[in-house]
Amino acid sequence: MNHLNNDLQNLEEILNQVSQQGLDYLNDIHNRPTKSQIEVESISKLNENGLGTIETLRRFNERFEPTIVASSGPRYWGFVTGGTTPAAIAGDWLATVYDQNTQSAKGNGDVSATIELETVKLLLDLFNLPKDFFGGFVTGATISNFTCLAVARQWIGKQKDKDFAREGISGSVNVLSATPHSSAIKALSMLGLGSNNFIQIDVLPGNREALDIADFERKLISLNGEPFILISSAGTVNTVDFDDFEAINKLKEKYNFWWHIDAAFGGFAACSPKYAHLVKGWENADSITVDCHKWLNVPYESAIFLVKEKHQLFQVETFQNSNAAYLGNPLENFSYLNFLPENSRRLKALPAWFTLMSYGKTGYQEIVESNVKMAELFSKFIDENPHFQLLAPTRLNTVCFSLTNETLASDFLNKLNATGKVFMTATVYNGRKGIRAAFVNYRTTAADIELATNEMLQIVTEL
Ligand SMILES: *Cc1c(COP(=O)(O)O)cnc(C)c1O
Repeated sequence: MNHLNNDLQNLEEILNQVSQQGLDYLNDIHNRPTKSQIEVESISKLNENGLGTIETLRRFNERFEPTIVASSGPRYWGFVTGGTTPAAIAGDWLATVYDQNTQSAKGNGDVSATIELETVKLLLDLFNLPKDFFGGFVTGATISNFTCLAVARQWIGKQKDKDFAREGISGSVNVLSATPHSSAIKALSMLGLGSNNFIQIDVLPGNREALDIADFERKLISLNGEPFILISSAGTVNTVDFDDFEAINKLKEKYNFWWHIDAAFGGFAACSPKYAHLVKGWENADSITVDCHKWLNVPYESAIFLVKEKHQLFQVETFQNSNAAYLGNPLENFSYLNFLPENSRRLKALPAWFTLMSYGKTGYQEIVESNVKMAELFSKFIDENPHFQLLAPTRLNTVCFSLTNETLASDFLNKLNATGKVFMTATVYNGRKGIRAAFVNYRTTAADIELATNEMLQIVTEL
């Protein structure tokens, strides 16, 4: 039997079954475990003639479907894990069906780059950022950090009359940061800047992760006017601390440096008038990283980079697909492939466009405020229960805590996660063994906090 032809005849049945399966998953997401205990044995022999989609779906459901965890559900608080809004799912499904390639140049009859440029503008509006940022979609905040820092690297070269993109790096490139995300350090390694080579700025005293502005100025003065890159934080992962962007901006007026902000999830503070002060002044940065698969609640893989338009030449010099003459002059003939790491890409912007259009500014303000409220509720429980203690004050949407008897923390977390009712991740904060619960899923309600804290109480009293 020719399975491909057969599948084409059967397309409606295939899509209906998949759609029904998606609905079943989403309708039951509150009950689905957040951790799987099932080990699946893998096969290594490919079937000679294939099975066709319906039979393949049956086999998938037999072997893997029961192991799929509710990571987009309301009680998956590990890492910083967003969910998927209905509109985002609609946009994502259509991105797959349309299968556009967003590298295509504008004006070549393909509208996908136009949708992407428009989505970036909508996001700038959501964040109250000025329109002098150019942006695009990449797979995650890691690659966004990489993209921004790659442009920063080219900028550094140009300050010394060098073209690092063509010649390779020569000399050392100074990078300063207080509490960089691990992925920014990974980017330094991928960019040839050296993950060991960043200069550590002190953090503020008093259980903070934000940079100490006085120490920053001391360290930059010791560079004797050498240009450098500052990686600053809009939301550290452990305690969601923010660097003081207004103070950094004052120094930027005096000294020559590239200012990058990793705002992977913390940038969403801008969506609420209650928390927008945390990012005050961020519009003056040269580049900003924002994840969409976290607080925007769109499916993986989605993030944007934002780089000031005035740096566009450095960006093109870094990413131009230069020896493909048929693609034209990158500055005259706009195509995303000359501005970011990938060449061919799916229409990554479409899920974000759908969700932004569907829920607007108020929708995202409500999601952010509701998640912060959930973090506060959970934090109150930790603070008031003698078995637990906060490792840092809860500043926004993440609670960093431990057991009063810290040596029991790993055992407790393993047992808690094994219940499949809630999922959190281990961390080390200030040399102490801790646990993080991050709230960025729009589905989480007070009932979920209650369910999770009841499990926690039962486990902690039986340790
Ligand atoms: C999650 C996160 C990253 C890395 O993001 P990915 O989407 O996993 O690549 C970088 N920085 C911060 C602050 C983050 O929270």
